[in-house]
Amino acid sequence: MAFDANTLRAKFPILQLEANDHPLVYLDNAATTQKPQVVLDALMAYYTTSNANVHRGAHYLSDRATAQFEHARDRVARFINAPQADHVIWTKGTTESINMVAYGLEWCLKPDDEILITSLEHHANLVPWQQLAFRTGARLRVLPLTSRGEWEPEYERYFNEHTRIFACTQISNAIGVKTPIKQMLAAAKAVNAFTLVDGAQAVAHYPIDVQALDCDFYVFSGHKMYGPTGIGVLYGKPHALEVLTPVQTGGEMVSHVTYNSTEFNVLPYRLEAGTPHIEGVIGMATACDFLAAQDRQGMIEWEQKLARYVYDELKFHTAIEIYSPESDTTVVSLGVPGIHTMDLNGYLDSQGIAVRAGSHCAHPLMAQLGVSSTLRASFACYNTLSEARRFCDVLLEAIEILG
Ligand code: PLP
Repeated sequence: MAFDANTLRAKFPILQLEANDHPLVYLDNAATTQKPQVVLDALMAYYTTSNANVHRGAHYLSDRATAQFEHARDRVARFINAPQADHVIWTKGTTESINMVAYGLEWCLKPDDEILITSLEHHANLVPWQQLAFRTGARLRVLPLTSRGEWEPEYERYFNEHTRIFACTQISNAIGVKTPIKQMLAAAKAVNAFTLVDGAQAVAHYPIDVQALDCDFYVFSGHKMYGPTGIGVLYGKPHALEVLTPVQTGGEMVSHVTYNSTEFNVLPYRLEAGTPHIEGVIGMATACDFLAAQDRQGMIEWEQKLARYVYDELKFHTAIEIYSPESDTTVVSLGVPGIHTMDLNGYLDSQGIAVRAGSHCAHPLMAQLGVSSTLRASFACYNTLSEARRFCDVLLEAIEILG
């Protein structure tokens, strides 16, 4: 069915709310997205018809919960085109997935090895690697991508015989720029590095094909793609998942235990200690099905059109500096020199408009841009042109009043 934002919007009950006596305009989607009724229904249905612990029970409800839980793994695997469901590990979200890899690969690092990230990373894809470097004596290196996501001419030298791990975001959360992920992954693979792609900002917007990307690990969060909070995915190729040391141990991840030894379970359970977030898993699979059923091309064109509208409306305003690219993005991140972004945020909020002011968990990127914070409007499938217009009008009003 052809993409229509208004039809889609009606499926998200929260968007009917008012905020501060104005119709809610929710433009903080890069932080978290709102949830369609179908996801809310799936959560409720789990608790009203299937609630039991998975895998261990031998009764009607437990069988039912286990079947739904494992079926969800199939659905999410299909959504990212993973070859098999057991390549999908449930986590709390992107941050936990990256930490599981950073701790799980600690055994393979020694002093003089290098971990390579880019200058566009969220702290979630920086701090775990930095701390891994501190623990092992390896070096953390930073590929200096420009704020347009471009290569520095001498980039090749960053990928060398010392590079053990390359971790990179697919899209910057702070400024919405895409990274040249395919070229970078090819360069990392040419030196036999483990590769991890942070897909947190990509999954809601673009169809993901982990086989085409050919990365060792792909990580993302449910809450940024219309699913519940507290659930995410660590996808891995079998050889990459096999060599991860489990960070958490306990029930579920074992097959035999004595006081002197533990035999670990097979994948994916080896990396899923304890009772999982069962309703979160089911809600996340429902969000994947919801997205997969949409006209994905129409959806991304619409989201980009909204960002482009805002960009074009504001680009000639001399008080405003825009840090996001002109096109091919769903985010407009900007600053108004002389006015604090929190003050702009406050004014927009008073008019019912939710955006985000701050460093967006990307302090080094803010330093690269020469600012301490930006004001970010980020679009999702349910946003409308009148919301984009209202954001521009109210922002200009705020500049007038606060400037
Ligand atoms: N990576 C990127 C690019 C993000 O945008 C975010 C969240 O904003 C994260 C990682 C961390 O995601 P979570 O907080 O869901 O673990």
